[in-house]
Amino acid sequence: MTAYLDVDLGAFTRNLDAVRERTSPAQLMLVVKDDAYGHGVERIVQCASAQGVTWFGAFDAATGVRVRASAGDKARIFVWMLSGDASIRAAIDSNLDLGIGDTGLFDEVVAMATTLRRRARVHLKVDTGLHRNGVRPEDWSSFVRAAASAHLAGSVEVVGVWSHIAEASDDEDDAARALFEDAVAALVAAGVPQPLRHLAASAASFARAEFRYDLVRVGAFCYGIRSAGGPHERDLGLDVVATLRADVTAVGPEVTIDIGSADGVASTLAGAISVHTPGGLRELIAVERTSARVESWDEARVGEQVTLYGAGASSATDLGEVLDTIGEEIAVRVAPTVERRYI
Ligand SMILES: *Cc1c(COP(=O)(O)O)cnc(C)c1O
Repeated sequence: MTAYLDVDLGAFTRNLDAVRERTSPAQLMLVVKDDAYGHGVERIVQCASAQGVTWFGAFDAATGVRVRASAGDKARIFVWMLSGDASIRAAIDSNLDLGIGDTGLFDEVVAMATTLRRRARVHLKVDTGLHRNGVRPEDWSSFVRAAASAHLAGSVEVVGVWSHIAEASDDEDDAARALFEDAVAALVAAGVPQPLRHLAASAASFARAEFRYDLVRVGAFCYGIRSAGGPHERDLGLDVVATLRADVTAVGPEVTIDIGSADGVASTLAGAISVHTPGGLRELIAVERTSARVESWDEARVGEQVTLYGAGASSATDLGEVLDTIGEEIAVRVAPTVERRYI
């Protein structure tokens, strides 16, 4: 008795097609951070590679190295969370594309590339308002001058410029885009012609053509996870990929299900959602460490299955909205110990 995350690779493939059709001629960078949003990074990368995806967004060097093993030598793998010599060395060794939004980190990358006698590919990040990381606009022109001279000297190859936006309001995103355009122009003026430009994640890449540039970094929509408060999956032309199912382990006045692992399901969902059972929708009454209790149905039997979210049930974002959070948070929470079944 256990829980399963069924991952529908056919649905994932259809979503890849839908995203590419919508955002073309920009190229798709498939974001696979957090174990491909809980779907399992190896299988997702293999499937996407077979479908012709050549860019992956891996977050950190450790994930980037795993993606390299699954995607092969030709894939371009972007990482944007580097810190410390070990991660910089691993990233350069695995021929990753490095996103850099910090002048100190840039210097460390130049030093490491020089030591390794490898030319590191870098994408410079400008802070367009999120203040997470990124070089501030007032520091940008001196940064790109230094970067351009390192580029000419050969220790790094400056291949791109990028930023991350809130995708919460069009006005804020427009202001961010204006800063981004200035940053691109400054880099070109400093002597790096035609850098790859990337700004948008799922929501902006779908909704706003002018945000697509050369590459769109899309995670959520490829997994069929809509934005909280945004258009429905159906209206976006996206299919749900992951379905979380739990076996019935005991039947009484309430039905007990096995949720597979501690913390895999948010306890705050208890009393707040209904789940799909063989007897129809039933309230989720309580969530414990590795089990949960559901309102009973007629002739409930041990071994039957309950669907917590996914195909034919509520989506991850539906559950997220109940908790005032995003669907990704529901998806990435499913513990690695829950078996992924690829269908
Ligand atoms: C997570 C992330 C993305 C993808 O966002 P989605 O909304 O899931 O498409 C893109 N870029 C960066 C920098 C991210 O951290």
